[in-house]
Amino acid sequence: MALKVFPIRSARAPAAAHDDQPLADTLGRGLRDLRVSVTDRCNFRCVYCMPRETFDHDFKFLPHEEILRFEEIARLARIFAGLGVKKIRITGGEPLVRRELHRLVAMLAEIPGLDLTLTTNGSLLAKQAAALARAGLQRVTVSLDSLDDATFRAINDADYPVSRVIEGIEAAAAAGMAPIKINMVVKRGANDSHVLAMAERWRGSGHIVRFIEYMDVGSTNGWRMDDVVPSAEIVRRIGERYPLEPVDPSYAGEVAERWRYRDGAGEIGVISSVTQAFCASCNRLRLSAEGSLYTCLFAEHGHDLKWWLRRGAADEELVNEIAAVWRARADRYSEIRTAETAKARKIEMSYIGG
Ligand code: SAM
Repeated sequence: MALKVFPIRSARAPAAAHDDQPLADTLGRGLRDLRVSVTDRCNFRCVYCMPRETFDHDFKFLPHEEILRFEEIARLARIFAGLGVKKIRITGGEPLVRRELHRLVAMLAEIPGLDLTLTTNGSLLAKQAAALARAGLQRVTVSLDSLDDATFRAINDADYPVSRVIEGIEAAAAAGMAPIKINMVVKRGANDSHVLAMAERWRGSGHIVRFIEYMDVGSTNGWRMDDVVPSAEIVRRIGERYPLEPVDPSYAGEVAERWRYRDGAGEIGVISSVTQAFCASCNRLRLSAEGSLYTCLFAEHGHDLKWWLRRGAADEELVNEIAAVWRARADRYSEIRTAETAKARKIEMSYIGG
């Protein structure tokens, strides 16, 4: 995949990253969340994310030496925390295929005041949950698109059974990371008939299912608007069976809209990035496995931070570069999405992470 990544070797005067103003982009949005992709590889080949036709044996994944080392990620994480980041989500690809990930978790867990979490397909979680929790991982989000084995296997296209993921969820809960968030991407005709079963399975468990609208990330999944099941339809379908009421967001800029069962059996969430864009409150920055910064999930190019890291840049230079990228940020892709923009050559979700 040819990605455009521009080194940010500008000759501009250092951005005033240490002034008293909180960092804000061109639309006045602050920086709060950082998603860190630790690998572009995955052991699943989900048809809507890494379709096998593209991500086959010939696909050129990032070479090992181009991937940020844990020490490099941890150094950047401290700098981001100094710039206002409060939450780091480790993602991928599949983050648990990265060897000894618990070592990175331990390094990040040392950063004071940071909310540390991870998104995984759950297939390797049963083995790693205890070590990750011991290293300081506080929470985990597990992706699970159906409870029906045939449907799940057809989606992951790698023959993983539902039971493996459920074991992972249970191990994570046993390791102290409950409540677990369980993400289901809903694609019309693929798994939308399984929405109610998914809600029912986790009702009363304390875990929280979040239903995600299928998005036009990347350029390999053949996305069409007709495949999107609007969140409003999901809330209506579940609410008809189990009455729901809205819950206030836990913090400004929270991606999921929260709903709770009126009978007290817990809550669900919906993430409506297609039908109710939340660009106006988007406070997220993304770091790719090879050390490029992306200011939007739908970006077409990134900013090469690794170039600075590996040339011995001082912390202050990195602070200034990151601050400059954030201050110049103007992305609002989901608000301006059309059938035409959906065809643009955007970065793949497996490269930048969810
Ligand atoms: N491998 C990990 C996992 O499965 O959670 C982390 C990376 S994965 C790219 C992160 C999330 O993105 C998963 O929940 C996945 O289902 C979701 N995702 C991938 N492609 C998507 C798309 N086109 N629309 C909506 N969500 C998508």
